[in-house]
Amino acid sequence: MITVALPNKGRLSDKALALFERAGLRAEFTSERALVAALGPDFRAIFVRAADVPEFVSDGAADVGVTGADLVAESGREVESLLDLGFGRCRLAVAVPDGSGIQTLAQVPSGSRVATSFPRIAKEFFDRAGITIELVRVSGAAEIAPHLGVADLIVDLVSTGSTLQVNGLHEVETVLESTARLIASRTAWEDPVRRLAMEELAAALESVLRAESKRYLMANVPRDRIEELKQVLPGISGPTIVEVLQGGSWVAAHAVVDEDRIFRTIAGLKRLGAEGILVTRIERLMP
Ligand code: AMP
Repeated sequence: MITVALPNKGRLSDKALALFERAGLRAEFTSERALVAALGPDFRAIFVRAADVPEFVSDGAADVGVTGADLVAESGREVESLLDLGFGRCRLAVAVPDGSGIQTLAQVPSGSRVATSFPRIAKEFFDRAGITIELVRVSGAAEIAPHLGVADLIVDLVSTGSTLQVNGLHEVETVLESTARLIASRTAWEDPVRRLAMEELAAALESVLRAESKRYLMANVPRDRIEELKQVLPGISGPTIVEVLQGGSWVAAHAVVDEDRIFRTIAGLKRLGAEGILVTRIERLMP
């Protein structure tokens, strides 16, 4: 049995659960407030704070876990990073008050007080930049600290930048780009039996992620336009051409197409005189 540490609440929790469910691992809770759930026959989930996932994974309480790359870096724990899950995209950035006159990192004076809930990353970052800082540790809402006069600038997570703007702050430098990751304990990764199960888990999640940006497209195409079809429907290894029973001058073409090319592809198919065009989602895609 492999134990998976998942975020119990917050920004990553719903998306992590939804991803596991799409991969066929639906969390079955035994009671309403359960902190443990079965994830199919081979895995079980434990639900903990996203910030605690690296610790639970590195000390072996869980074999694998899902959390933000930012939280993995801040924990300083040694874990295997198995897969970038793509969601939870944000960046950790240095932001200063609009009235500070600071536009670049080089203009940040030594001795500045930096409010952050990422003290380890912030300290390392300013050390590397050769700027000495005084850390003001907060556990959230760092953007308030300059207003309160307890900090000169902040290192905080940004996704759109609107929170910074509302608080009269602007970014001067990105410290780290983050997305949610599937991480594994080093010990579990060294164990061949557990490693196999974790590789299977990573492959299943990856197949779901890969399928998300693809669509399966089918169309009836005039037989005499098959050669031109290759320009319109590239597919993974070219389109599949299938005979239609009593299709006469028609064949059916099937292909996997990038979601953002669907519009152009349909227009191209219509120009070839295609009919009965059908586009569906794909649940999983394994190369
Ligand atoms: P939580 O504190 O449990 O809501 O989880 C926060 C984690 O979600 C962060 O550490 C990031 O990995 C991720 N995240 C994604 N976008 C944002 C954002 N705009 N603000 C804060 N955290 C974000």
